[in-house]
Amino acid sequence: MIPVPNHLRRLAVDAQERKGFVCFSLCCPCGSETFFLEQNDLSPKEKAAERNRSKALLRFYESCPYGFTYSYDDEGLHYWRFLSALGAKGEREEVFIPPAPLTPLFAVVRCRCPLCGETNTVFDSRLHGYDAVTSSDPPVPGGEATYFRLRTKHPVRLQVEIENDPSLEAFNNNSGLAFTEQQYADAFTWIIIRGISSAGKKVKLFDCETA
Ligand SMILES: [Zn+2]
Repeated sequence: MIPVPNHLRRLAVDAQERKGFVCFSLCCPCGSETFFLEQNDLSPKEKAAERNRSKALLRFYESCPYGFTYSYDDEGLHYWRFLSALGAKGEREEVFIPPAPLTPLFAVVRCRCPLCGETNTVFDSRLHGYDAVTSSDPPVPGGEATYFRLRTKHPVRLQVEIENDPSLEAFNNNSGLAFTEQQYADAFTWIIIRGISSAGKKVKLFDCETA
């Protein structure tokens, strides 16, 4: 059977294999079968900065009847407006555009138990999945996950689907690697997380191809 990734074994229950996937539900060690799901995101302040930047860019493009240009130095990108019909051959002035917030280049999804408060990482694209496990590069830069957005208003049951080769032997044959059982379990190629509400409504909350 396709293995449950190592970091989820403490929480995984009712694991079943179907069509190249292993599917299981999450259960907190305290017994709770429902969770809040959270995902890293820009903070509200960073989102406001992003909106300000978009507006400033739009104003800039609208205010350049003679065209514009960019330059780049240690401080980053600079925006210049041409001031006459001479365009690039004439005078130009710099227009300040606020810098963009650093958009996270990685995904961290975690579940938080509404009863005992325990929080567990369900997926971290820097640590889990084929690309992360097989990469020889250092982890993706872009800061730490500091702000998490709630993906569910209410606690829901969580179902995880993991795509992987059907056996360690098949994995090593297909990849040309010589992984151990433990490495293979974390080198899955797809993860889908679904939430099931108390009314039985199933919603896809996270979907990531990791290879
Ligand atoms: Zn709990």
